[in-house]
Amino acid sequence: MAYTKKMQDQLAGTLLETREAGLYKDERWILSEQDVEIEVEYPRGAKPQKVLNFCANNYLGYSSHPEVIAAAHKGLDERGFGMSSVRFICGTQDVHTELEEKMAAFLGKESAILLASCFDANAAIFEVLFGPEDALVCDRLIHASLIDGIRLCKAQKAIYANADMSDLREKLAELRPKARNLAIVTDSVFSMDGIMAPLDRIAELADEFDAMIITDECHSSGFLGKTGRGVHEHYNVMDRVDVITTTLGKGLGGAAGGIIAGPREVIEMLRNRGRPYLFSNAVPPTIVYGALKVIELLTASTDRRDQLEANAKSFRSQMEAAGFDLVPGETPIVPVMLGDAKLASKMATDLLAEGIYVIGFSFPVVPKGQARIRVQLSAAHTEEHIAKAVKAFTVVGRKLGVIS
Ligand SMILES: *Cc1c(COP(=O)(O)O)cnc(C)c1O
Repeated sequence: MAYTKKMQDQLAGTLLETREAGLYKDERWILSEQDVEIEVEYPRGAKPQKVLNFCANNYLGYSSHPEVIAAAHKGLDERGFGMSSVRFICGTQDVHTELEEKMAAFLGKESAILLASCFDANAAIFEVLFGPEDALVCDRLIHASLIDGIRLCKAQKAIYANADMSDLREKLAELRPKARNLAIVTDSVFSMDGIMAPLDRIAELADEFDAMIITDECHSSGFLGKTGRGVHEHYNVMDRVDVITTTLGKGLGGAAGGIIAGPREVIEMLRNRGRPYLFSNAVPPTIVYGALKVIELLTASTDRRDQLEANAKSFRSQMEAAGFDLVPGETPIVPVMLGDAKLASKMATDLLAEGIYVIGFSFPVVPKGQARIRVQLSAAHTEEHIAKAVKAFTVVGRKLGVIS
């Protein structure tokens, strides 16, 4: 047998260590559709419980929005279940191209390409665009998928401290003379801290050093910026950011799908050379129809984006008043700092018992000693939901000695 006892013991040992370190990922069953009010069975076999969800990326509440569901049904009826092909063989329907054009326009870019996920988008882009003559200067906290994508390309690389503009300047100055093409790579929102990359200052440095800018807007597309285009809109640098990668799996419906938007030639190269695009199935029509509906709703009105902003402000101010230590910021991601990993996980468990579903994050996802509960607001939360969450945090926080 190729799967030896030795290997089995080795894996079992690693899994045990993972559990003992408190790092084992224990999935919780949701018995309802995804929404702000959900039914959870945890632990498995326990009596199902109705709770308020404060840890989904369902920022705009489109995950189970009736019009989005109806559009997806229509996609299923009109265009079937799946494409059974990659895009370039026989997997491109007119609606795939329509979605790409609408996403390009929404993000303010010339062209766009649709992939199965943003993980795939980030895995595709660097290898196609950059070789050993080129250089990438990356924020230390970029997403795992950007790190993996960058690993696949042979460009020279440098890392700057998170959102640290003097360090970025140093790295750009060092690499500019050695590079044919130079690019700055960053998440536009750092999802563990809920803070934005300072794209205005990044744009100034990019101009100074003749560098392009590649940002990952997964945690901003649809809701940050005045009309929800993203952080590039927030900082008024929509044209200066050259390439944007983002997901349809968060604010933009929550199903699945990745987008890369940028100059025409960049997108054309990706269509011809991007491996996760060329060698992976086309996105199914249900998702394409659903995403088209989301863009239609988003461009028709900023109501949801405005509601989300108001919800985040309300939650932040009530939690501050209650005495919690929050990472300051303007996004709907609100980290409640606790420090100790065991405390964070205990607090999350106790909050679930109070009807509030949140998750504790600790090392290695965040630095040691900076364990936290990350709260994510949605436009679908009501003022009542928020009040209930603040009350539960206050009750559990007092009990555990987090606040007095
Ligand atoms: C969620 C996320 C991704 C991955 O997106 P998927 O479409 O779920 O693969 C990539 N980058 C960032 C910053 C993310 O938050």
